Amino acid sequence: PSVKPRDAKPRLLLMGLRRSGKSSIASVVFHKMPPNETLFLESTTRIQKDSIHSFMDFQVWDFPGQLEYLEPSFDLEDIFGSLGALVWVIDAQDDYLDSVARLNRTILTVQQYYPGINVEVFIHKVDGLSEEYRHDSYQDIVQRITDELNDAGYENAPVHFYLTSIYDYSVFEAFSKVIQKLIPNLSTLENLITTLGNNCGFEKTYLFDVLSKIYIASDTRPVDMAAYEMCSDYIDVIVDISELYSWDHPLRKHKGDQMQEAESHVVLHDETMLHLMEMNKYLCLVSVIRNPEAREKKGLIDMNCRTFQEALNDVFSRSWEREEDHAAE
Ligand code: GDP
Repeated sequence: PSVKPRDAKPRLLLMGLRRSGKSSIASVVFHKMPPNETLFLESTTRIQKDSIHSFMDFQVWDFPGQLEYLEPSFDLEDIFGSLGALVWVIDAQDDYLDSVARLNRTILTVQQYYPGINVEVFIHKVDGLSEEYRHDSYQDIVQRITDELNDAGYENAPVHFYLTSIYDYSVFEAFSKVIQKLIPNLSTLENLITTLGNNCGFEKTYLFDVLSKIYIASDTRPVDMAAYEMCSDYIDVIVDISELYSWDHPLRKHKGDQMQEAESHVVLHDETMLHLMEMNKYLCLVSVIRNPEAREKKGLIDMNCRTFQEALNDVFSRSWEREEDHAAE
């Protein structure tokens, strides 16, 4: 109850054995580090609370061998109490049995006291694996965990599996799925985005967390990775440009009031138009437009996006308030 509705962000915790890739994932997703540079990262050796100015609250906690968090000295409530999802990273290029055993123990504890937490298993570093090996490891890990859960009587525990790598978009895609489960009223948002898309002739629309470029919602049309990548890259371009021209850039003189939210569009060589509009401090809406008639109606697109923006902020303020009411009960 002490949190203001708008501050109630989805909370995520990243866990796994040392060297499994936790810091790399955090650096690539939240700090724009090029994947190759993670080779020189120092491995996490302690609980690391990384504060991130994003739509979600995200922490990397490393629990190396000597740090046994399931012992009574650790305050479980402090660790899991307000968590939305626990992301467990398994290094698929290494022997994973130890990690799977620890994960099983963790899931059983979490299920016992905090059954509402989603456990999201990232079978990670799959870039180095052959298609066949990747498939086999996935099957094997899923089997080992579901068997253990079934034995303990948790048939429908919320545990999900993803194949990830920092060398492609898979880790962003996986995070997007993880976050979407924590968004209150996701289906309302998806319907709003779908209606907007139908009215404006958008082929695909993503609502992004600008900092991480994780998408927190999209229209209900099939996922289109190429469109996602284009939109994601376009955010980078716009962020770079707006930094260059930003209000407090040392070389820039103030020229009157600035627009609150950035709006931008570009037409690519194949006539595809990308349209971007900032929604609030954290979120921005990016759409792919291929229909030539739709491209002509920029004014209509802007107007509809503004209407969507109002609806979006309304949905969020209501749903967080409701969550808060629940918390206060
Ligand atoms: P942490 O101890 O769990 O934080 O692990 P680090 O983030 O320090 O990563 C350990 C090593 O794994 C580093 O050398 C990373 O470059 C490497 N790594 C992380 N993610 C990936 C990945 O997706 N693919 C590959 N091939 N290597 C990765």
